[in-house]
Amino acid sequence: MAALPISPSSALEFDVVVVGAGIIGLTVARQFLLGSDLSVAVVDAAVPCAGATGAGQGYIWMAHKTPTSALWDLAMRSKRLWEMLADSIQQKGMDPLEILGWKKTGSLLIGRTSEEVAMLKDRVELLSKAGLRAEYLSSHDLLSKEPALEIGKEGGAAFIPDDCQISALWTVSFIEKENRDFTSKGRYAEFFHDPAISLIRGSRSGEVEAVQTSKNILYCKKAVVIAAGSWSGSLMQKLLSESNIALNVPVKPRKGHLLVVENFDSFTLNHGMMEVGYVDHQIAPSHPSTSSDLVANEQNLSISMTATTDAMGNLVLGSSRQFAGFNTEVEDSIINSIWTRAGEFFPALRELELSNLSDNKKVRVGLRPYMPDGKPIIGPVPGLPNLLIAAGHEGEGLSMALGTAEMVFDMVLGNITKVDSAPFAVTGRCYN
Ligand SMILES: Cc1cc2nc3c(=O)[nH]c(=O)nc-3n(C[C@H](O)[C@H](O)[C@H](O)COP(=O)(O)OP(=O)(O)OC[C@H]3O[C@@H](n4cnc5c(N)ncnc54)[C@H](O)[C@@H]3O)c2cc1C
Repeated sequence: MAALPISPSSALEFDVVVVGAGIIGLTVARQFLLGSDLSVAVVDAAVPCAGATGAGQGYIWMAHKTPTSALWDLAMRSKRLWEMLADSIQQKGMDPLEILGWKKTGSLLIGRTSEEVAMLKDRVELLSKAGLRAEYLSSHDLLSKEPALEIGKEGGAAFIPDDCQISALWTVSFIEKENRDFTSKGRYAEFFHDPAISLIRGSRSGEVEAVQTSKNILYCKKAVVIAAGSWSGSLMQKLLSESNIALNVPVKPRKGHLLVVENFDSFTLNHGMMEVGYVDHQIAPSHPSTSSDLVANEQNLSISMTATTDAMGNLVLGSSRQFAGFNTEVEDSIINSIWTRAGEFFPALRELELSNLSDNKKVRVGLRPYMPDGKPIIGPVPGLPNLLIAAGHEGEGLSMALGTAEMVFDMVLGNITKVDSAPFAVTGRCYN
């Protein structure tokens, strides 16, 4: 971090500079543009959707979240904001399905054993007490809702009728378009393929005064927001390397695969579905017996069934979790496992060979920004109050984006946040 005398360049001076154009960075920018008269620049090392956002399945779900957890209020607030956005699109005479891929499908959290069913019944009670519509469905009741699903007589599901889904790609396009409407007013600019590389601090105030990118210096009058997903840890290390601030942001990439089968016509799913094991993010093989099992174990590889039909009618099957560094190569063995796992729930898939679907098969891979304590970091860096971090949403970044953006906005403007921000603070979670 260089401490240089600043001579602001009006052409490249903004109130807020956002680093990272994933769903978090773009919605933070949107919030400032719509909610204030501040100007915003968004910087990305690549382009929007280059990170986890481009791979995301798009569930805006409460089914697998726990009312007593620190994430609950933020998730509830965020879901409400998504619903309000869908309503506002509708009120403008447009169809949120066509604009955001928005579907109020409801979600089914599925169990197949008596233990899982007991756990689902408890969850229904917990969610109902927290004010959500939630209902337990026996395997018999499930059959009428999802005829393609087979879970055995013992099984059942928690049904959350108000859960929704979006298309991450369509939603990002919409948000980008909304943001770009402010370009002609001189309030918005994008700097893509232009990574942030250092910070410039005022010699007297010590405050961050500009972000140095590979091609530009972007002066910021009010705040810099680091929303670089899985890259936020290494980026913060680089940005603070010449300062005396010892900050270790422990975000790390958690690779995920999704399998999309286009023009799938064997069956349609009416709801979003997830097996109950998805609630436990840490499943890994406990007794590795072969070398590939060993690698899987070291990477904490887990695969749990998620399934939905998206806005275009594609079958979307997920998903895997593993720690494999920043590697985003498609691993065929993982895709085969996702397919096999889905076949355990949908017998019609067992009749089909994945290899015969190659023309219709698309794979999405992304790096979820994982935080060891399961909560994103949202807040200012101690000692540098105009430098904020908004990262580490793991598998919940799409659903929690709007609540996160609102929180960052309120923090920068000195407003009281709508949701308690203390659980997400940098302090106490990011020091060596
Ligand atoms: C398979 C899969 C399924 C998922 N399903 C869901 C789901 O159903 N629901 C849900 O809520 N979430 C889901 N998620 C999680 C969600 O996608 C992420 O939590 C979210 O996209 C994270 O957004 P982000 O903006 O923090 O990060 P990213 O989207 O990763 O964006 C970070 C950006 O920072 C940029 N960047 C990096 N370094 C720099 C630099 N030096 N300078 C400038 N820019 C930089 C990158 O290029 C990137 O564009 C899923 C994720 C995966 C992988």
